[in-house]
Amino acid sequence: MTTVFSTTIESEGYELEQTVTTVECPSCRGCAIHRFYESAEGGSINAFTVIHCEQCDYYRERCVR
Ligand SMILES: [Zn+2]
Repeated sequence: MTTVFSTTIESEGYELEQTVTTVECPSCRGCAIHRFYESAEGGSINAFTVIHCEQCDYYRERCVR
C-alpha cells in the first residue's frame, strides 16, 4: 500500500519583480534592453537577467540566483 502526498505551494500574495532598463549592447555598443525578472518554478523563486539588443539581435539570458 502506497500513501501519496500532494503538496501545493501557494504563490499567491507574492509579487514577482520585473525591472527593465536600457544598457549598452556588449556586442554592437548600441542600445540594448536589460530585463531583470523573477520566475516561480517548481515552488522556488528564480531570478534572471536578460540582455536583448534589437539592433544586432544579441540575446543573453542568465540565471542570477
Ligand atoms: Zn547590439
